[in-house]
Amino acid sequence: MSIAIAIDGPAGAGKSTLSKAVAKELSFIYVDTGALYRTIGLAAARKGIDKNDKENIVKILDEIEVKLAFNDEGTQIVLLNGEDVSGYIRTPEASMYASSVSAIPEVRAFLLDLQRNMAKNDNVIMDGRDIGTVVLPDAKIKIFLTASPETRAMRRYKENLEKGIECNYDDVLKDVNERDYNDSHRDIAPLKPAEDSITVDTSDYDFEGSKNALLKVIKENM
Ligand code: C5P
Repeated sequence: MSIAIAIDGPAGAGKSTLSKAVAKELSFIYVDTGALYRTIGLAAARKGIDKNDKENIVKILDEIEVKLAFNDEGTQIVLLNGEDVSGYIRTPEASMYASSVSAIPEVRAFLLDLQRNMAKNDNVIMDGRDIGTVVLPDAKIKIFLTASPETRAMRRYKENLEKGIECNYDDVLKDVNERDYNDSHRDIAPLKPAEDSITVDTSDYDFEGSKNALLKVIKENM
């Protein structure tokens, strides 16, 4: 029997970097489910469909095939009709589209089996918003990874500065609060901790501290 670890939580809590590091340590496959929503968003953007045009977004689901694969280093790549789009889904436009398409029930249903199949035969650490609640409700360990809005905003603010993107901390914090509100108040698959999840708050930790806290919880519950 394969083992699944579900990691859910708000944007900016460090889910993907930490899940990737912990998966490496445990020799599990890391599955980033946000990439799937981003890929549907990219497909819609490429077709020139408005990100709020639900009807036409649902229509393109019949024309697209999304697959996950792993390269030689074990890094996830995502294929849209056979094309590796892993680089294209990281743009701000793809993020905006991902956020819109992820609120469409048909899109979530379209991606459900793909996510579940990933956990059938392999040990996985899967990160997202609804992994412990919807995708893998029987996951062996469910973690709700979070940090205060101020901490997440400060991390993003510093990241932006390092990338040479000018920004203002108060604006970043406002954005974080707005996204938290949208993610947790949407009708379908709202972001909320699964009842049997363990919350790991990384507000007071740096990367190493967060990784160790996460590994400790996993090892204690394995
Ligand atoms: O995690 P990431 O930022 O890549 O996610 C992209 C978008 O997909 C986000 O807006 C998020 O709300 C959505 N998403 C989701 N369910 C998941 C993973 C991501 O709704 N399991």
